[in-house]
Amino acid sequence: MNAFSRRGACPALSAPMQTGDGLLVRLNPVARGLSPKLLIALAESAQRHGNGIMEVTARGSLQIRGLTAESATLLAAEVDALGIAVRTGVPIETGPLAGIDPQEIADPRPLAERIRVAVEEAGLTPRLGPKVSVVVDGGGQLTLDAVTADVRLKAVRAGSGIVWSVSVAGDGRNAKVLAKVDADAARDITVAALRMVAEKGREAHARDLSERQLVSLAGWLCLTGSREAPLSVLPDISPSRGEITLSPMVSPISGVAKEKPASRLLISPLEGEMSGRTERGASRRPIGLFPVAGDTFTLGIGLPYGSMPADKLITLTQSALTLGTSEIRLAAGRALLFLGQPHAANQPLQTTAATLGFVTSPADLRTRIAACPGTPACGSGRIATRDIAEAIAAENAGDLDFTLHISGCAKGCAHPGPAALTIVGGENGAGLVVNATAKTLPAGYRPGYDAARGVSRVAAMIRSERLQGETAAACLTRLGAAGVADAYRRAQN
Ligand code: SF4
Repeated sequence: MNAFSRRGACPALSAPMQTGDGLLVRLNPVARGLSPKLLIALAESAQRHGNGIMEVTARGSLQIRGLTAESATLLAAEVDALGIAVRTGVPIETGPLAGIDPQEIADPRPLAERIRVAVEEAGLTPRLGPKVSVVVDGGGQLTLDAVTADVRLKAVRAGSGIVWSVSVAGDGRNAKVLAKVDADAARDITVAALRMVAEKGREAHARDLSERQLVSLAGWLCLTGSREAPLSVLPDISPSRGEITLSPMVSPISGVAKEKPASRLLISPLEGEMSGRTERGASRRPIGLFPVAGDTFTLGIGLPYGSMPADKLITLTQSALTLGTSEIRLAAGRALLFLGQPHAANQPLQTTAATLGFVTSPADLRTRIAACPGTPACGSGRIATRDIAEAIAAENAGDLDFTLHISGCAKGCAHPGPAALTIVGGENGAGLVVNATAKTLPAGYRPGYDAARGVSRVAAMIRSERLQGETAAACLTRLGAAGVADAYRRAQN
């Protein structure tokens, strides 16, 4: 058995991962996008060597499923022959519209490239686990707020200038904010954080860094003295305005002990986590029309639950090619962005996509449902997640304003965090979990084939019990897990 069958590792093209339906590979083109012809060729290759299912992940990676050890090698050779350079090393993510979004605060690509180079020069790639990642978010129409990363840099306006808000271990809502600094410092803190993670081993993430390490990262400008003055080190996010004192410590950047007296920060970096004053705002789904540079529009089209048969992707891409699309980008949020076609082509392209079953509206309920492949695609699955999801979407359009997670088993691959409602497959059928993760003991069960009926009953309950102005998610919280599970369990024909 090969070493790359370990679940949880990153299934790069050169290191496929074993799943219930064979090997899976994940690839990210170095170029931001692919030409339609290249995407068609890639999909044909996926059809030849895999099971014909293609996926775009929540992070915007392309996945091909159902490979064998032999066919994975053939696929890799064909990708190579197509001239598609795939990304290696620590993932440094930028948004799909980076550099062409008229609304972005800063073009994140130059900083991302400098971090990439610095990480390589520091020799960190082989010392870090495959899932350690960095986000460099220039802001704009399609932010990366929903993407979890070990280190995240977000462009923010500061007076007449722009600085980078540096945070660690989380997404745009819950990452711990360390500092707001210039691009040089942002790069250095990023490398320092990754060095600390590497020192903890290949299983480590930024969430494993100690409070002392976070404090040293937040205060490193003061400690190293390598800048004349930090633009800002957490000056405005303390709920208590408390001060903390740093002991003399080793600079995480230079590795040289500093003899400077203790510096004083205006905030504990750990308080920043709770302050709620990070750069927030709901991420916009990458579906629909978005103005881009040159007075044109890009059209975002989603893959339901992140996957589509390759033949449908080929049909859509052929249509795009005919209509004048020059580039197709992978977008975080399980979508593709079509660029270059004349504006008049967007409507017919959208119509074709809808006819093929793609997601063409950000209001489509399927965008609120996270569903892993489940049975029969995944050997660990206990319920047919996608069938359940389709039935729920068909019956409950407009009723659910929260993320519904349908998980084939307790692993919760499609949505590792808590969801307002989770249906999870297990020995007792399809369990219902309220406001928790798929790993939580369900509050009630139904047979897997009948789970959609139970969710429809819960949706009906929300309709009748909801207070004026109350969201469905808030209503669920108010009704409580036991009451919701009871409705789910008792649903009749
Ligand atoms: S959560 Fe879904 S994809 Fe992940 S192991 Fe379980 S059934 Fe498979």
